Amino acid sequence: MRKPFIVGNWKMNKTIAETVEFVTAIEKELSGNEACTYGIGAPFTALKDAKANAKNLVIAAENVHFEASGAYTGEISIPMLKELGVTHVIIGHSERRQMFNETDEALAKKAKALFDADMTPIFCIGESEAQYDANETEAVIRRQLTEGLKGLCPHCASKLVIAYEPIWAIGTGKSATKEIAQNCCAIVRDQIKVMFNQDVADKVIVQYGGSVKPENIKEYMACEDIDGALIGGASLKVDSFKAIIDATK
Ligand code: PEP
Repeated sequence: MRKPFIVGNWKMNKTIAETVEFVTAIEKELSGNEACTYGIGAPFTALKDAKANAKNLVIAAENVHFEASGAYTGEISIPMLKELGVTHVIIGHSERRQMFNETDEALAKKAKALFDADMTPIFCIGESEAQYDANETEAVIRRQLTEGLKGLCPHCASKLVIAYEPIWAIGTGKSATKEIAQNCCAIVRDQIKVMFNQDVADKVIVQYGGSVKPENIKEYMACEDIDGALIGGASLKVDSFKAIIDATK
């Protein structure tokens, strides 16, 4: 039985003070007995304070380097995040793939290094609008999983969180229909079965992401292969994140 996981991705938003205010307000809504697990991905600078104020809310980082230390100016390592008590890291977000040249090869190293440290990647994939229009969605999903999860053992793969996020739906207000989202998340699960086995495919958490909001979260959550959501814009305000929690707990 998969427990749904709903995660906010704050991107480059929120100071420490804003983070503490948000986490404190949301914690009041959570008992830990909800049907879903909830979390937020926060900027590096706010992680320590987010952790200090979180009890039931999972705190994720939004990126990490695969090397444990070294001459990588400006990067943050897994031991640095672990020291803060961070358990999850969003990797491969389309903004990092597009604007910061994140490659499938680097992602495979990040995923492996995170599992080696007993941490959980929230592994993002998804096609561009041009790829969608060219009917390449399925091929893109299968390729990104094949390349980005290369070298993982089935035991690790079964603990993965995969966020399927069509790029054309991110921050555009143009969310995928529930049929498209379900179909693509089913392809994700099938590809995991192809790469690992049925047991791993049954265990892996597959999120949909792309203009999810309080008004549409329930229809995604009702889909067989969708186990939660990765949410950008609607995770930034306490009221809308609380409305998402109310709609799903
Ligand atoms: C995201 O940033 O991963 C995302 C899905 O953003 P939004 O919900 O704003 O579309």
